[in-house]
Amino acid sequence: MQCEMCGKENEFLLLADVEGVELNLCKECSKYGTIKKRVRPQPRPVRTPVKMPERKERIQTITSDYSSKIKHAREKKGMKQVEVAKMIAERESVIASLESGKMEPSIKLARILEKALSITLVEELEVEERFSSEKDRDSKNVTIGDVINIKKR
Ligand SMILES: [Zn+2]
Repeated sequence: MQCEMCGKENEFLLLADVEGVELNLCKECSKYGTIKKRVRPQPRPVRTPVKMPERKERIQTITSDYSSKIKHAREKKGMKQVEVAKMIAERESVIASLESGKMEPSIKLARILEKALSITLVEELEVEERFSSEKDRDSKNVTIGDVINIKKR
């Protein structure tokens, strides 16, 4: 934005009354008049791309049968919950909650358990996001309905 008095480019201008004339002035020039308000430049219209690029995203999730997997693997090894807990430096109650399905492990904890019990708990999904209709093209927010293709790896 250009100051109407000195012509300097400014990020913002101040609307000032200079002897009865309203002018958009820079900070320097505004002292010659009475400041009315701060003028912000109009935000530039955001151009919507015609074609949204296809996005692929890999997400890690915990397998739904984690509780039985942990339990079976532990029993196969002939270990008690407390022993598994000690092995992975967690509380026994954590193992009990995992085995009963009360608590889903974090990816980090699942990785530790995978190593300790020689099991697979983390699933990697490849998610393709596409804008399914013309209507959705202008929408910036991708809803779950736009995720149309989930491939299991
Ligand atoms: Zn100026």
